[in-house]
Amino acid sequence: MTNSAFNGKEKIKVVAFDLDGTLTQHRSPLEEENRALLAQLSKKYKLLMVGAGTCRRIFGQMGNFPIDIIGNYGLQYAEYDKSISDIVLKEETVLPCDVESVLQRADVFRKETGYIEYSGKPVEFHPSGSVTFPFLGTAAQIGDKLAFDPTREKRRALYPRFCELFPEFTVFVGGSSSYDMVPAPNDKAHALDVYCRRVGLRHENVLYVGDDYEPGGNDYAVFVSDFPFVCTDDYKKTKDILSFLNE
Ligand SMILES: [Mg+2]
Repeated sequence: MTNSAFNGKEKIKVVAFDLDGTLTQHRSPLEEENRALLAQLSKKYKLLMVGAGTCRRIFGQMGNFPIDIIGNYGLQYAEYDKSISDIVLKEETVLPCDVESVLQRADVFRKETGYIEYSGKPVEFHPSGSVTFPFLGTAAQIGDKLAFDPTREKRRALYPRFCELFPEFTVFVGGSSSYDMVPAPNDKAHALDVYCRRVGLRHENVLYVGDDYEPGGNDYAVFVSDFPFVCTDDYKKTKDILSFLNE
Protein backbone atom coordinates (compact mmCIF):
# COMPACT_ATOMS: atom_id res chain seq x y z
CA MET A 1 0.00 0.00 0.00
CA THR A 2 1.24 3.48 -0.67
CA ASN A 3 0.10 7.04 -1.20
CA SER A 4 1.25 10.28 -2.76
CA ALA A 5 4.16 10.43 -0.33
CA PHE A 6 5.65 7.42 -2.10
CA ASN A 7 9.41 7.48 -1.82
CA GLY A 8 10.55 4.20 -3.36
CA LYS A 9 10.73 5.58 -6.86
CA GLU A 10 14.34 4.66 -7.48
CA LYS A 11 13.51 0.98 -6.99
CA ILE A 12 10.74 0.91 -9.58
CA LYS A 13 11.49 -1.14 -12.69
CA VAL A 14 8.00 -2.12 -13.80
CA VAL A 15 4.85 0.00 -13.86
CA ALA A 16 1.79 -2.25 -13.88
CA PHE A 17 -1.68 -0.99 -14.74
CA ASP A 18 -5.30 -1.84 -14.35
CA LEU A 19 -7.22 -0.85 -17.49
CA ASP A 20 -10.90 0.07 -16.94
CA GLY A 21 -11.20 3.20 -14.83
CA THR A 22 -7.42 3.59 -14.63
CA LEU A 23 -6.41 4.15 -18.27
CA THR A 24 -9.81 4.10 -19.99
CA GLN A 25 -13.48 4.43 -19.34
CA HIS A 26 -15.11 1.07 -18.59
CA ARG A 27 -14.70 -1.21 -21.63
CA SER A 28 -13.80 1.75 -23.86
CA PRO A 29 -10.82 2.17 -26.18
CA LEU A 30 -7.57 3.63 -24.87
CA GLU A 31 -7.58 7.34 -25.69
CA GLU A 32 -4.71 9.23 -27.25
CA GLU A 33 -3.67 10.98 -24.04
CA ASN A 34 -3.11 7.80 -22.04
CA ARG A 35 -1.58 6.08 -25.04
CA ALA A 36 0.96 8.91 -25.05
CA LEU A 37 1.43 8.48 -21.29
CA LEU A 38 2.27 4.80 -21.77
CA ALA A 39 4.59 5.54 -24.68
CA GLN A 40 6.39 8.10 -22.53
CA LEU A 41 6.71 5.80 -19.50
CA SER A 42 7.88 2.91 -21.66
CA LYS A 43 11.10 4.80 -22.37
CA LYS A 44 12.05 4.48 -18.72
CA TYR A 45 10.11 1.52 -17.36
CA LYS A 46 8.92 -1.90 -18.34
CA LEU A 47 5.11 -1.69 -18.59
CA LEU A 48 2.61 -4.39 -17.75
CA MET A 49 -1.17 -4.69 -17.82
CA VAL A 50 -2.99 -6.67 -15.13
CA GLY A 51 -6.59 -7.19 -16.10
CA ALA A 52 -9.79 -9.05 -15.39
CA GLY A 53 -10.50 -9.82 -19.04
CA THR A 54 -8.57 -12.05 -21.42
CA CYS A 55 -5.20 -10.85 -22.75
CA ARG A 56 -6.70 -10.68 -26.24
CA ARG A 57 -9.58 -8.47 -25.12
CA ILE A 58 -7.28 -6.13 -23.20
CA PHE A 59 -4.89 -5.90 -26.15
CA GLY A 60 -7.78 -5.08 -28.47
CA GLN A 61 -9.23 -2.49 -26.10
CA MET A 62 -5.80 -0.85 -26.02
CA GLY A 63 -5.72 -0.58 -29.80
CA ASN A 64 -2.85 -3.10 -30.00
CA PHE A 65 -0.54 -1.00 -27.82
CA PRO A 66 2.75 -2.95 -27.45
CA ILE A 67 2.68 -4.26 -23.88
CA ASP A 68 2.87 -7.52 -21.92
CA ILE A 69 -0.43 -8.54 -20.38
CA ILE A 70 -1.57 -10.56 -17.40
CA GLY A 71 -5.18 -11.51 -18.14
CA ASN A 72 -8.05 -13.16 -16.27
CA TYR A 73 -6.57 -12.18 -12.88
CA GLY A 74 -3.45 -14.20 -13.62
CA LEU A 75 -4.90 -17.20 -15.40
CA GLN A 76 -3.38 -15.87 -18.65
CA TYR A 77 -0.08 -14.22 -19.48
CA ALA A 78 0.88 -12.86 -22.91
CA GLU A 79 4.00 -11.10 -24.16
CA TYR A 80 4.17 -8.59 -26.96
CA ASP A 81 6.24 -9.78 -29.92
CA LYS A 82 7.58 -6.88 -31.94
CA SER A 83 8.34 -9.02 -35.00
CA ILE A 84 4.66 -9.79 -35.53
CA SER A 85 3.19 -6.67 -33.83
CA ASP A 86 1.00 -8.95 -31.77
CA ILE A 87 0.80 -10.59 -28.38
CA VAL A 88 1.71 -14.24 -27.91
CA LEU A 89 -0.01 -16.22 -25.18
CA LYS A 90 2.73 -17.68 -22.96
CA GLU A 91 0.62 -19.18 -20.23
CA GLU A 92 -2.97 -20.19 -19.86
CA THR A 93 -4.38 -21.92 -16.84
CA VAL A 94 -7.69 -23.68 -17.10
CA LEU A 95 -9.13 -24.71 -13.76
CA PRO A 96 -11.90 -27.19 -13.09
CA CYS A 97 -15.25 -25.89 -11.89
CA ASP A 98 -17.94 -27.84 -10.09
CA VAL A 99 -20.84 -26.45 -12.12
CA GLU A 100 -23.60 -28.25 -10.23
CA SER A 101 -22.34 -27.14 -6.85
CA VAL A 102 -21.93 -23.51 -7.99
CA LEU A 103 -25.46 -23.47 -9.43
CA GLN A 104 -26.84 -24.90 -6.23
CA ARG A 105 -25.14 -22.30 -4.03
CA ALA A 106 -26.11 -19.49 -6.42
CA ASP A 107 -29.68 -20.63 -5.99
CA VAL A 108 -29.33 -20.54 -2.20
CA PHE A 109 -27.98 -16.98 -2.48
CA ARG A 110 -30.84 -15.88 -4.74
CA LYS A 111 -33.45 -17.32 -2.38
CA GLU A 112 -31.83 -15.78 0.69
CA THR A 113 -31.51 -12.34 -0.86
CA GLY A 114 -34.69 -12.24 -2.97
CA TYR A 115 -32.97 -11.92 -6.37
CA ILE A 116 -34.88 -14.86 -7.74
CA GLU A 117 -35.87 -13.36 -11.11
CA TYR A 118 -33.33 -13.23 -13.91
CA SER A 119 -33.23 -13.36 -17.72
CA GLY A 120 -31.14 -15.93 -19.53
CA LYS A 121 -28.98 -18.06 -17.29
CA PRO A 122 -28.48 -17.53 -13.54
CA VAL A 123 -24.70 -18.05 -13.68
CA GLU A 124 -22.13 -17.67 -16.44
CA PHE A 125 -19.28 -20.19 -16.59
CA HIS A 126 -16.10 -19.20 -18.43
CA PRO A 127 -13.69 -21.63 -20.13
CA SER A 128 -10.88 -20.61 -17.72
CA GLY A 129 -12.77 -21.87 -14.65
CA SER A 130 -13.85 -18.36 -13.67
CA VAL A 131 -17.50 -17.66 -13.02
CA THR A 132 -19.74 -14.61 -13.23
CA PHE A 133 -22.80 -14.25 -11.03
CA PRO A 134 -25.09 -11.76 -12.82
CA PHE A 135 -27.79 -10.62 -10.44
CA LEU A 136 -30.19 -9.95 -13.34
CA GLY A 137 -29.16 -12.99 -15.41
CA THR A 138 -26.94 -13.42 -18.47
CA ALA A 139 -29.52 -11.94 -20.87
CA ALA A 140 -30.47 -8.80 -18.91
CA GLN A 141 -30.83 -5.50 -20.77
CA ILE A 142 -27.89 -3.13 -20.51
CA GLY A 143 -30.14 -0.34 -19.18
CA ASP A 144 -31.38 -2.54 -16.36
CA LYS A 145 -27.85 -3.62 -15.57
CA LEU A 146 -26.55 -0.05 -15.36
CA ALA A 147 -29.47 1.01 -13.16
CA PHE A 148 -29.11 -1.97 -10.85
CA ASP A 149 -26.37 -0.84 -8.48
CA PRO A 150 -24.48 2.24 -9.70
CA THR A 151 -23.05 2.93 -6.23
CA ARG A 152 -22.22 -0.77 -5.68
CA GLU A 153 -24.08 -0.47 -2.38
CA LYS A 154 -26.28 -3.52 -2.96
CA ARG A 155 -23.43 -5.75 -3.96
CA ARG A 156 -21.18 -4.51 -1.17
CA ALA A 157 -23.85 -5.21 1.42
CA LEU A 158 -24.28 -8.82 0.25
CA TYR A 159 -20.58 -9.38 -0.47
CA PRO A 160 -19.63 -11.08 2.84
CA ARG A 161 -22.44 -13.63 2.51
CA PHE A 162 -21.60 -14.33 -1.12
CA CYS A 163 -17.92 -14.89 -0.24
CA GLU A 164 -18.99 -17.21 2.57
CA LEU A 165 -20.99 -19.33 0.12
CA PHE A 166 -18.05 -19.53 -2.33
CA PRO A 167 -14.92 -19.97 -0.22
CA GLU A 168 -12.96 -21.60 -3.06
CA PHE A 169 -13.18 -18.41 -5.13
CA THR A 170 -11.83 -14.89 -4.91
CA VAL A 171 -14.92 -12.73 -5.43
CA PHE A 172 -15.00 -9.23 -6.92
CA VAL A 173 -17.75 -6.67 -7.18
CA GLY A 174 -17.51 -6.53 -10.96
CA GLY A 175 -19.14 -4.92 -13.96
CA SER A 176 -22.41 -3.12 -13.32
CA SER A 177 -24.52 -5.81 -11.72
CA SER A 178 -22.48 -8.90 -11.00
CA TYR A 179 -19.88 -10.65 -8.92
CA ASP A 180 -16.80 -11.94 -10.73
CA MET A 181 -15.35 -15.11 -9.26
CA VAL A 182 -11.93 -16.54 -9.96
CA PRO A 183 -10.61 -19.71 -8.34
CA ALA A 184 -8.52 -18.82 -5.25
CA PRO A 185 -5.76 -17.90 -4.66
CA ASN A 186 -5.84 -16.08 -8.00
CA ASP A 187 -6.18 -12.33 -7.83
CA LYS A 188 -4.06 -9.46 -9.12
CA ALA A 189 -1.62 -9.53 -6.18
CA HIS A 190 -1.04 -13.24 -6.61
CA ALA A 191 -0.58 -12.72 -10.35
CA LEU A 192 2.00 -9.97 -9.76
CA ASP A 193 3.84 -12.16 -7.27
CA VAL A 194 4.02 -14.97 -9.86
CA TYR A 195 5.23 -12.42 -12.42
CA CYS A 196 7.98 -11.21 -10.06
CA ARG A 197 9.23 -14.74 -9.51
CA ARG A 198 9.22 -15.39 -13.24
CA VAL A 199 11.28 -12.32 -14.13
CA GLY A 200 13.37 -12.18 -10.96
CA LEU A 201 12.03 -8.97 -9.42
CA ARG A 202 11.05 -8.02 -5.90
CA HIS A 203 7.66 -6.58 -5.05
CA GLU A 204 9.22 -3.18 -4.39
CA ASN A 205 10.35 -3.11 -8.03
CA VAL A 206 6.77 -3.12 -9.34
CA LEU A 207 4.56 -0.07 -9.01
CA TYR A 208 0.87 -0.78 -9.53
CA VAL A 209 -1.70 1.79 -10.65
CA GLY A 210 -5.39 1.06 -10.08
CA ASP A 211 -8.80 2.59 -9.39
CA ASP A 212 -10.72 -0.24 -7.78
CA TYR A 213 -9.00 -0.45 -4.40
CA GLU A 214 -11.99 -0.58 -2.03
CA PRO A 215 -12.81 -3.95 -0.40
CA GLY A 216 -14.37 -6.18 -3.09
CA GLY A 217 -12.69 -4.18 -5.86
CA ASN A 218 -10.48 -5.99 -8.31
CA ASP A 219 -7.39 -3.98 -7.29
CA TYR A 220 -7.99 -4.40 -3.56
CA ALA A 221 -5.66 -7.40 -3.17
CA VAL A 222 -2.78 -5.34 -4.59
CA PHE A 223 -3.75 -2.31 -2.50
CA VAL A 224 -3.41 -4.26 0.77
CA SER A 225 -0.28 -6.11 -0.37
CA ASP A 226 3.32 -4.92 -0.14
CA PHE A 227 3.39 -3.85 -3.79
CA PRO A 228 3.69 -0.07 -4.06
CA PHE A 229 0.28 1.18 -5.19
CA VAL A 230 -0.79 4.44 -6.76
CA CYS A 231 -4.52 5.19 -6.55
CA THR A 232 -6.40 6.93 -9.31
CA ASP A 233 -10.09 7.78 -9.19
CA ASP A 234 -10.34 9.15 -12.71
CA TYR A 235 -8.56 7.80 -15.78
CA LYS A 236 -8.22 11.36 -17.06
CA LYS A 237 -6.14 12.27 -14.02
CA THR A 238 -3.85 9.23 -14.08
CA LYS A 239 -1.33 11.08 -16.21
CA ASP A 240 -0.96 13.87 -13.65
CA ILE A 241 -0.86 11.43 -10.75
CA LEU A 242 2.05 9.63 -12.40
CA SER A 243 3.95 12.77 -13.38
CA PHE A 244 6.41 12.10 -10.51
CA LEU A 245 7.75 9.14 -12.53
CA ASN A 246 8.98 11.46 -15.24
CA GLU A 247 10.69 13.87 -12.88
MG1 LIG B 1 -10.48 -0.65 -12.81
